[in-house]
Amino acid sequence: MKRLSLRARLTFLYSAVLCVMLALFGALFYRALGLFVEQSLTSELHDEASFLRNYMRVNDDQLQLVFDPADREQAYLIHVATRYYQVFRLPSGDLLVQSEELDLLGIRPTPEQARVLASQQNDTDVLLPSERLRFENSVVPAGDGATSFLVRVAIPLSPADAARRGFLRSLLFLAPVGVGFTALVGWQFTKRALHPMKDLAVAARKIDIQQLQQRLPVRGAGDEVDDVARAFNDTLARLENSVDQMKQFTASISHELRTPLTALRGEAEVALLEAHSVEEYRRVLASQLEEFDKLTQMVNQLLILARAEAGEIHWTDQSVDLSALAVSLAEQMEPIATAKNVHLQEQINPGIIVRGDSNWLERVILNLLDNAIKFTGEGGKVRLRLNAERGQAVLRVEDTGAGIPAEAIPHVFERFFRAEPSRSKHVEGVGLGLALAKWIVEQHHGQIEVESRPDQGSCFTVRLPKAVPDVASAAVST
Ligand code: ADP
Repeated sequence: MKRLSLRARLTFLYSAVLCVMLALFGALFYRALGLFVEQSLTSELHDEASFLRNYMRVNDDQLQLVFDPADREQAYLIHVATRYYQVFRLPSGDLLVQSEELDLLGIRPTPEQARVLASQQNDTDVLLPSERLRFENSVVPAGDGATSFLVRVAIPLSPADAARRGFLRSLLFLAPVGVGFTALVGWQFTKRALHPMKDLAVAARKIDIQQLQQRLPVRGAGDEVDDVARAFNDTLARLENSVDQMKQFTASISHELRTPLTALRGEAEVALLEAHSVEEYRRVLASQLEEFDKLTQMVNQLLILARAEAGEIHWTDQSVDLSALAVSLAEQMEPIATAKNVHLQEQINPGIIVRGDSNWLERVILNLLDNAIKFTGEGGKVRLRLNAERGQAVLRVEDTGAGIPAEAIPHVFERFFRAEPSRSKHVEGVGLGLALAKWIVEQHHGQIEVESRPDQGSCFTVRLPKAVPDVASAAVST
């Protein structure tokens, strides 16, 4: 089933919320209005009854209303107050006086009921098919102590019902109008609010991999739509960057692959044409083996990164004697440095232990030493230092080589990045070593950073949390 559009859903939501609110407040107000009108009618009833009591006199065992008929206002008020009026003699409960309205309505309590009403003296309601009446029942003593009178005065409660009905009628008429109006306003408002989203969608659809430099328009309204546009533009910038890196990588990998492949093919062709002795074939095969080694190393690095990305790399978590590892790796790299006439120095504090995987840490140190030797010219110096600083093992690889241009420094740890391609042309590599080193260091909860100045040299620093030697490895090393 096709889902409703966001616009339709929002409009529906506004209208539904308004309906619920109207129903809730309507019900509350309906009840409160009835109670309020009934209360004011009851207090009017009490006023009328107490007004009448002022004019009551007991003469010859009879209760009479004594007033001046010439006073028109007084006569009118007495007339109004006695529209619903009854007097009973007590304790017999005989009806003495009854107004015409009550007579017509047939409200005539029995003597027994009159006595009960007199004993309770509270307000009572009488429900008729066409009317509701509220009575005040009060007892007026006769003065002789033996007899008394039950005086009943009533007021119709129909105004409360009429007010309720009027309110309900207005609500039933106004609510659909209000809800309809809200739906209309909501529909138009959401159209306006969502319009920029449509523009964004149109602009976003036009962007493809060939036009990643394009950006979505940011209107500057500072609203959520601008936030979405900015977030999308940031994603586009990252994508553009990644695609650029991929392009650069494809170019450099094809270059790196083509060079050894061309060399391999050339050597094979020459050998086929010119070599005659076993010695000559042996020399060509040995040289080809070297090229194969370089190719294997490159493919291995790519594989490691791919496996790391897929989360398939397994680590061991052991105490690693970083000092011993650094010493042995410096020894291992010594011949390579010497062959290039680079002086490799080491300054390693003994007994520095970290936790992690020694094979992977070895890769980091080897990569840094290899780069340092690679990018340092003849007669240059490379220094490997290791010491402990504030609970951290700090390993530094410094060189007096080519250095890295300032604008390239933020990118050296990115995959496939190689600073200044013209220079790197003469140096082997595909720009994966430092990306891998950074990833390994971070897996060991450490940091790697670089300081460098062109033509003066570089210093790569690796900081790892220092660990205490565990009992097993301490026992092995003793
Ligand atoms: P690769 O060495 O295979 O090119 P890396 O990821 O190890 O890849 O290094 C990335 C880039 O960083 C190198 O191409 C080089 O431009 C720069 N770089 C790394 N180490 C040094 C260094 N010690 N001196 C100068 N430049 C360096």
